[in-house]
Amino acid sequence: MDNVNKSTFGRCHIIKNWSDWDNSIHSDDSQIDRQGRSMTYPFTFDVDKHTKTARFSSTSILPFYETTLTSCTCEDFQSRKLPCKHIYRLAVELGYIEIIKRPTFDKEKLDTLKNSADIDADPDQIKRQKSSMTSKCKPTEINYADESALFSGSGKSPYVTTLNSCTCRDFVVRKLPCKHIYRLRYELNNCNK
Ligand SMILES: [Zn+2]
Ligand SMILES: [Zn+2]
Repeated sequence: MDNVNKSTFGRCHIIKNWSDWDNSIHSDDSQIDRQGRSMTYPFTFDVDKHTKTARFSSTSILPFYETTLTSCTCEDFQSRKLPCKHIYRLAVELGYIEIIKRPTFDKEKLDTLKNSADIDADPDQIKRQKSSMTSKCKPTEINYADESALFSGSGKSPYVTTLNSCTCRDFVVRKLPCKHIYRLRYELNNCNK
């Protein structure tokens, strides 16, 4: 094994120095999607380990795609000139990278966010603040004394929300403010004025 810095970019865990691409591009959200699809997409392929190339075919009537570590004949690569799902899969098959499972990836990202100084400024949190102000996200009941609220959700029972907890799936999974918490915060702030 040569002297290689093991590291993770997006869902790419670099095993062997893959110098064809700047590692930072793998951290882009649109690239992370492709990394996931490289492992789940129902294509068939033949890898030639000597030439480091592969031939992919999808399950449709489309022709084969010829893939190398730096190029691919698929439309996605031709239009973006960035690694497509075929290139990622070839890199996996050749032992350059390993695609890590999403929960691990999400957990790392969430842990970083939980420790950040300004959670509310995170793009994912800003999305939640925006959707908290839509008419769909209106509390059905607010208890000003308790600083809690009920929101109707997708299931039968409403979500029970306080300023630091919520029974919705988003909060249960992320343990970070969900849109209900943001909306409750807003409602409480507004009534004090
Ligand atoms: Zn491709
Ligand atoms: Zn919630």
